[in-house]
Amino acid sequence: MTESTETLETVSNSVYQNLVTTLIHDIVSRETTREKLLRSRYPDYKPYYYDPKKQLDIHGQPKQQDSSQYFMCENCGREVSGNRFAAHLQRCLSRGGRR
Ligand SMILES: [Zn+2]
Repeated sequence: MTESTETLETVSNSVYQNLVTTLIHDIVSRETTREKLLRSRYPDYKPYYYDPKKQLDIHGQPKQQDSSQYFMCENCGREVSGNRFAAHLQRCLSRGGRR
């Protein structure tokens, strides 16, 4: 039998492992229960599509480019493309709403 010495590090490590494992078990069991409930309520429910190449969205459709989606700026009322919206908002709000 090998002699195991318990140090502060090994004890804290095992406490940490125990906590993380408990948390993961808790999350998995909750999600499993939710999934079962969802399946019993909606038998035709289709699971989300997973594309490892990240080319398709969760419905299995080709992803839409951010630049093809437009959002209305609530501050100035302009239509701004999705990939420029954050930059626009920063500028738009710092101008104090002037056009
Ligand atoms: Zn704006």
